[in-house]
Amino acid sequence: MDIKEDKGRIHQVLKHYFGYNSFRAQQEQIINTILEGQDTVVLMPTGGGKSICYQLPSLVLEGLTLVISPLIALMKDQVERLNENGIKAAFINSSLPELRRKEIEHELEEGLIKLLYVSPEKVFASDFLSFLSLLNIRLIAVDEAHCVSSWGHHFRPEYKKLHFLKKKFPQASMVALTATADKAVRSDIGRMLGMQSPRMFTASFDRPNLSLSVLPGQKKWEQIKGLLQKYTHQSGIIYCSSRKATEQLAQKIKSLGRRAACYHAGLPNPIKDQCQNAFLQGDIDIICATVAFGMGIDKPDIRFVIHYNMPGNLESYYQEIGRAGRDGKPADTILFYSYRDVQTQLSFTADITDPQYRDIQIAKLNRMQAYAEALICRRKIMLSYFAETLENDCGNCDVCKNPPKFIDGIIPAQKVLSAIARTQQQLSLPVLVDVLRGFVSNAVKEHNYQSIKTFGAGKSKSPFVWQLYIQQLLQQGALEIDYKDANKLKLNTFSLKILKGDATVKLVPYEIIKERQEAQKNKQQFQSIDSDNQLYECLRSLRKTMADAIGKPAFVIFNNASLMDMSAKAPTNLNDFMLVNGVGKHKAKRYGKQFIAAIIDFKRGA
Ligand code: ADP
Ligand code: ZN
Repeated sequence: MDIKEDKGRIHQVLKHYFGYNSFRAQQEQIINTILEGQDTVVLMPTGGGKSICYQLPSLVLEGLTLVISPLIALMKDQVERLNENGIKAAFINSSLPELRRKEIEHELEEGLIKLLYVSPEKVFASDFLSFLSLLNIRLIAVDEAHCVSSWGHHFRPEYKKLHFLKKKFPQASMVALTATADKAVRSDIGRMLGMQSPRMFTASFDRPNLSLSVLPGQKKWEQIKGLLQKYTHQSGIIYCSSRKATEQLAQKIKSLGRRAACYHAGLPNPIKDQCQNAFLQGDIDIICATVAFGMGIDKPDIRFVIHYNMPGNLESYYQEIGRAGRDGKPADTILFYSYRDVQTQLSFTADITDPQYRDIQIAKLNRMQAYAEALICRRKIMLSYFAETLENDCGNCDVCKNPPKFIDGIIPAQKVLSAIARTQQQLSLPVLVDVLRGFVSNAVKEHNYQSIKTFGAGKSKSPFVWQLYIQQLLQQGALEIDYKDANKLKLNTFSLKILKGDATVKLVPYEIIKERQEAQKNKQQFQSIDSDNQLYECLRSLRKTMADAIGKPAFVIFNNASLMDMSAKAPTNLNDFMLVNGVGKHKAKRYGKQFIAAIIDFKRGA
């Protein structure tokens, strides 16, 4: 097929099958590169629109596109959506009944299927590769490609074998896609997959519609209760670090009369499926979950993601908050943070036997901590982690909305550092606080710290205030934590300068931090979006009825952005209906009549 002709066709195909009028940033370039037969690596944040980058070429190219996807739930979802758009796609994995698999294999042999989703394990299972080699595979798409790198946080050994596919199917080009990859992983992907000088596309990781905030990890339930008042009927996820916490929190939220459920890997599969479906359908608003929840969940209207505990690295955090606001409308992300979370995460790294890998994880944890303790724009910290520079402050994080006022912190800093010096740098953070406060704890008694000069020098401030100050000093590099020596606090050359009075130190006092948090809480007056748009509400309820009737999530029919556009355009005939964003031929045929009838009814009544 002529390449130039293909290029002309892609806009047509975009509208016909996917219902979209234009490409998002980079999609068109990526698709053209793939159509030229180039190997391609695509880095795009979650919700950025990666799927179309290989789904659309599969429709233009002859033959079959093979999609390697790590999760069964993810495949089913994607295939369902494609079929809804009138695209022949299928998946083969262990969950498939024998009979259905035979059927699919037959259809593949007949060339009736355009996209086939399989797991990496399945690809290398006995006989499957020889079956695949009978097919006309023209494109191989490797989804969640960061799994190929041992530097990543989701390493899957089977991914390492995928370079074999390049040799086995020399006529096929390959595209690798991922949403989470720091610099080390990026350079790994193409090489590990055996690609030939791949072209790399990196979309911005900035998700400006997500607000970023961090709240103190104390009295979390009180704070959550307050936050939930803001999201009266909106969907949200609360991530907890333990299964038990998800259960307890869901119970408490339910007792407020809210529609909540818990989700974790320890629940039986039918319960998990039920819970996930109820959330997708909008029958449950709030899911309290461990990180087991979310891979492959593409619910566009999640309005908040709260982290009850801090994750161990920014990739995970970014991926988890990335599930909010996929429709591009404002959504909130909130992290509860306390120093205890850092210690918990550190204790996990202690179990890692490979010292190099452990050091990487500790370094990643440090970056996560810097985000949580940021006194500068959080988005700057986040994006710099993904090797992106944000020139101006974002204006949509709690620090930007409320920049801190600093005070001269030399006296408290000297108290902290002198206590460390006088105890031969043997103090961990909690014991240091005991010493400053003059509290005779067991550790103090054991080492007779009562006798040192600084004992009780910080009596006038609460333990919480001292913790805050010490954290800020750590952030500024005024002292260090020795992870290899029981997390004891150590002095460095900067500390010595401060002790001598040769350097200045600025701190944000507790009162100001508290003031900032209060102000932030008051500002969080959530305005329910669209609630004054009656046609939109009417289309939403029609969509819900139709989705319930076919037992599928509402957004499989149309997502909220499409309904919004539909309510704005209010089409009363099929031609106009086709102009709505997200309406392709297939869906127009299938659902057009009912939606148009509802719009006509609405106009009559208005
Ligand atoms: P990713 O795989 O990058 O997380 P998806 O491919 O699932 O993202 O796309 C996220 C959402 O954006 C989907 O609902 C998708 O239909 C929508 N989308 C993708 N491309 C476009 C486009 N060109 N115009 C409008 N919406 C789009
Ligand atoms: Zn900011």
